[in-house]
Amino acid sequence: MNMLTELHIGIDDTDSEKGGCTTYTAAVLFQELSSRGFKPSDFPWLVRLNPNIPWKTRGNGALAVHFFVEEQRIEDVQSIALEIVERTTVASARGTDPAVAFLKGQVPRTLREYSTRALHDVLSVHEARAVATSAGAEVRALMGVRGMVGSLAAIGAGLDSVEHTFEIIAYRIRKNFGSPRRIDHQSIRLMNSKYEDRTFNNLDPESGRVLVSPHGLDPVLLGIRGYSPHDVLGAFKEVQLCEEIERVMIFRTNQGTDAHLGKIRRAVDLKPHQSGALIGRVDGMPRVLRGGHIIFPLRDDSGLIDCAVYRPTGALAMAARDLFPGDKVRVCGGVRGRRQGKPTLNIEKLEVLLLVEKIEHTNPTCNDCGGRCESMGQGQGFRCKKCGQRYEYASKIQVRHERQLQPTIYVPPPRARRHLTRPDSRPRMISNPSLRVEDFQLRVEDYN
Ligand SMILES: [Zn+2]
Repeated sequence: MNMLTELHIGIDDTDSEKGGCTTYTAAVLFQELSSRGFKPSDFPWLVRLNPNIPWKTRGNGALAVHFFVEEQRIEDVQSIALEIVERTTVASARGTDPAVAFLKGQVPRTLREYSTRALHDVLSVHEARAVATSAGAEVRALMGVRGMVGSLAAIGAGLDSVEHTFEIIAYRIRKNFGSPRRIDHQSIRLMNSKYEDRTFNNLDPESGRVLVSPHGLDPVLLGIRGYSPHDVLGAFKEVQLCEEIERVMIFRTNQGTDAHLGKIRRAVDLKPHQSGALIGRVDGMPRVLRGGHIIFPLRDDSGLIDCAVYRPTGALAMAARDLFPGDKVRVCGGVRGRRQGKPTLNIEKLEVLLLVEKIEHTNPTCNDCGGRCESMGQGQGFRCKKCGQRYEYASKIQVRHERQLQPTIYVPPPRARRHLTRPDSRPRMISNPSLRVEDFQLRVEDYN
């Protein structure tokens, strides 16, 4: 009898602005190995890593596939993987640095911890090499070395044992790349109304815009996100495709889980491009910048930072504008850089924990004519600007304003969300051992 070993293959960075998509590489590899009779041990994983790293392609996704392989066939599988990664990589001037990581057997804790850090930190290639060595993983970088971090982090993500969601992705045939995607939008609206509770980010509720389908040169026709493979497959079957597809694949993913915001940080420790959360008090009035962006200072017991909220974040930006000094909030997001020596956190989520009373101190109004009074100087009382009546013993009056803000969580609308942003606050499935990838054999003939 031949012993089967679980082989994990991590892939990163086969895409670029000129097209390609690392999920496509993983789908091709998964289906190629399956068609050759290898047995997958799980769905392929689509692992979104720290979204605040500016030099990564939008989305910063890495992939992992997992198969049971006989020891003597491991080398065959490795060369199939390398060949597919090379074939599906879109090279570009901006530099695509595909890397493939291989790991046999159980995923060691060092690699899991590394993967968690890749969600909210900036990790070096130097460290990736050290982690690969200590975890017993083999990493092959096909051009540059930058893809090493993601390929290892994908394997270490442990998606089967942490909170996760699913995405079904359909891929276009090559000759349609670059042309407008043809999907019946009405069928997506119908699908959304039927699967609203079990899928997410299908439509933007404010603009009605369809979000399941991207616009670039990549091979993705559409992707539907949801809470189980049954849900995403059911939803996909409701959509009327008006062009041929090459393949379709269901991924287990950390999208929609806030996984990148789990780390609580202190103001003094914030470094550029990190993601995380911070609890503190608003330290001054929010200012509206040109373009409608909001900036406000926040203080925790370690120091002061600036928080920036972008106008396209809708309700989130409105909430930020209504903050008042003293309010206690939890802010989540990524560090862009430093403004005037202070780190600036770009806010992706705002939780209002405690609202102070908003009391304004204003000059009194005139008892005679109702006009506004002005101060006659420190301790000198007030004088009516309209009729001149003097009030030598008057002092400022306190006006209590009604707070519009609620003690709740504010998130951007779906169109302005990160892949990793949790769509609402409901608790999600962690794991379901009865889910088996072999129950979801997707035949492209069924959808063309
Ligand atoms: Zn007056």
